[in-house]
Amino acid sequence: MTKTSTTPLILSGITVAENVRKNIKLEVDEIRSKEQRLPGLAVVLVGENPASLIYVKNKEKACINIGIHSEVYQLPTNTSESELIKLIQTLNINEKIDGILIQLPLPIHIKVENIIKEIDPNKDVDGLHPTNLGKLLSGQDCLKPCTPLGVIEILKYYSINLNSMSSVIVGRSTLVGKPLGMMLLNENATVTITHSKTENIEEITSCADLLISAIGKPNLIKRTWVKKGAIVIDVGINRITENDKTKLCGDIDFEDVKSICHAITPVPGGVGPMTIAMLMSNTLKAYKKQR
Ligand code: NAD
Repeated sequence: MTKTSTTPLILSGITVAENVRKNIKLEVDEIRSKEQRLPGLAVVLVGENPASLIYVKNKEKACINIGIHSEVYQLPTNTSESELIKLIQTLNINEKIDGILIQLPLPIHIKVENIIKEIDPNKDVDGLHPTNLGKLLSGQDCLKPCTPLGVIEILKYYSINLNSMSSVIVGRSTLVGKPLGMMLLNENATVTITHSKTENIEEITSCADLLISAIGKPNLIKRTWVKKGAIVIDVGINRITENDKTKLCGDIDFEDVKSICHAITPVPGGVGPMTIAMLMSNTLKAYKKQR
């Protein structure tokens, strides 16, 4: 793609996700041709959160398209912690299932930590079990959280050299900001993680050659936050209403930032499509490990 001073390189998660899925499908086709057991993913949804229902449907669809065996468990909102744990224990020993994903958020009476720690770490395709997070911290091979893994995949696909790159992440969640910081460190980037209590945040972000935002605040990040020529990754997915229409936008004000950065992910079509692609990749990885 040609880049001019006012047109940044668009880092397309749609293209990268398609490439990831294509490679996984090739491997799954080969497994099928050898008449071996196919990789299997179980997705567990508690309650009827409308966004979660869509995410679960999309995960099921992705499995079907690739040829991964898929099981979806939809439980009522009033499911107790112990009932959910019992299901996880059954899935832990189910030989058709290589990956278990608990769709978040859970209803407020269920403590996420109590649930995640019950998943067999070898089947933890969301990479959120303390064993996997600990391995990530110590640089060992493990199942890694899908969204940050997707960010790294985009950067690698576009041959962005992370070695020693000055990187700033905005947001410190266990789902995105913190594991992404570890992954970038493991790629030899120099990493700063900022958050809602960071003072003078603009001064910090505007020094970054790689700026990544995962905060969930629509269009908060303007050009004054961004270094000229920076690579900008927007993990945020926010719903806003404009002229009576609901649309998606990121944390980065794309229109404002696009003329000064070198490259940027759009929303939609940036990091979003990568999460499910990396879930498929983690399921295949878990399958290979278990075989
Ligand atoms: P979260 O609410 O758990 O964490 C948000 C983080 O942002 C916190 O660490 C908080 O300190 C920080 N923050 C909030 N306001 C801030 C501000 N004004 N300045 C600096 N830091 C601030 O959220 P999350 O689960 O990490 O998700 C973040 C965003 O990423 C959301 O928009 C979410 O929808 C999106 N997301 C997208 C995907 C995907 O598939 N692309 C996956 C997960 C999350």
